[in-house]
Amino acid sequence: MHPLAKLDHRYLWHPFTQMRDWLKREPIVIVKSKGARLWDAHGREYLDANSSIWTNLHGHNNPRINAAIRRQLGKIAHSSALGLANEPASALAEKLVAVANPPLRKVFFSDDGSTAVEVALKLAYEFARRTGHSSKPKFLTLEGAYHGDTMGAVALGHIDLFHKAYAGLLFKTDKVMAPYCYRCPFNRAKPERADARDYRKCNWECIGKLEQKFAAQKKRGNPYAAFVFEPLMQGAAGMIPQPAGWLSRAAEIARANGALLIADEVMTGFGRTGIGGTSQGRRPSSPSTHQPPLFACHHEGVQPDFMALAKGLTGGYLPMAATLTTQAVFDAFLGEYEEFKTFFHGHSFTGNQLGAAAGLASLELLQTTGSIRARQQLERSLHDELQTLWRCPRVGDIRQVGLVAGIELVRDWRTREPFDLRQRAGFRVCEGLAKRGVLTRPVGNVIVLMPPYCTTPAEVRRMVAALGEAIADFTKSL
Ligand code: PMP
Repeated sequence: MHPLAKLDHRYLWHPFTQMRDWLKREPIVIVKSKGARLWDAHGREYLDANSSIWTNLHGHNNPRINAAIRRQLGKIAHSSALGLANEPASALAEKLVAVANPPLRKVFFSDDGSTAVEVALKLAYEFARRTGHSSKPKFLTLEGAYHGDTMGAVALGHIDLFHKAYAGLLFKTDKVMAPYCYRCPFNRAKPERADARDYRKCNWECIGKLEQKFAAQKKRGNPYAAFVFEPLMQGAAGMIPQPAGWLSRAAEIARANGALLIADEVMTGFGRTGIGGTSQGRRPSSPSTHQPPLFACHHEGVQPDFMALAKGLTGGYLPMAATLTTQAVFDAFLGEYEEFKTFFHGHSFTGNQLGAAAGLASLELLQTTGSIRARQQLERSLHDELQTLWRCPRVGDIRQVGLVAGIELVRDWRTREPFDLRQRAGFRVCEGLAKRGVLTRPVGNVIVLMPPYCTTPAEVRRMVAALGEAIADFTKSL
């Protein structure tokens, strides 16, 4: 075993990992990177097929982001935002407001996706109380929601495997049916082929459920303070896309019922949801170089009151997050000091200069024609290559929104019978992928492909071919 692997085994506790399994085998120790490629301590090369847990945008070791960080490092790495301002944080806030569109006007920086959601949650709670909307603000979230691992974010989540154990520590939030067309209880169409997704009998029952939920809460005399959602695609729930029109209709219903909109764009932000061509029936845009939407909400013209950003904010380089909100929310916290209306919240590294410098360089890169073309090409090559997987009888569904794909493994594509989680189908296929030089992690029985934007068509072909082989190997082992 490599000495670095031994060192890890001796001291580390890894996230979302059964450490007994971890300690049974030599871990892959990543030591260097370039573009979509990673190398381990033994010199083996891998493709980063999930952008290092959905964070990396332009590829690793990007010269422009490296240079921006180095430049900033020559000045200062970090000074506190408690009582002090700094240039890169202000400049990044200005750029974020410009790309997020009105009414988002103010930026509160924090550290990661969870804290970005916590900030939105606390602000929305207090805003609802201060404006007299509710003395006991309630939140509505989606089935299968995942918004992070800090307690407020966990309270908004609805994945039993992760969240149930901590129920005793949480405040209650309501959940409502989310569209999961592949497993929709109202879709009675029988698939004739694995790739035949017949949603013609859809009567938008999920939207009906949402309407009912809002109406019932209103009747109780305490309308929801905010509706929290991952726009266009729910990630940790299993890469579950929303059909075209769902997001705008859901937002309209929430607004009509007086709820604020909290969009968690931690996974979907910064171009991840693509140019629109593969987004569940949304109209493909012509292959031009106009600025495509950087945020999932904008694909459906939804302007939330809060937008939580992290992961790709720094191009996936450094832990930094932002919560964008409106002037109205900001104003509700203004007052004389002794009124104590201050937002008493903050983190030591809020507004960190190195992170902000990386964020500025990343945003600039995103707006270049080179990046836009690369994203269009990646969206297309992912789509084209993924079609080959419909041949695998263990592939039940292939879901792609822009540059994100989820491949759902099933026991039988005819019946859509899922694998028992104890069989670790997703993990076993990912182990097979790693052996073939492709790194990703599953969400349950769903294999995630979400490569960096610099990934070439040839690299996508390699990823998908390796996935086909890994699924075939797994099938043989059953
Ligand atoms: N929201 C969403 C939609 C996410 O996908 C994640 C992380 N996967 C988070 C929040 C939490 O982000 P972090 O892990 O950076 O705290």
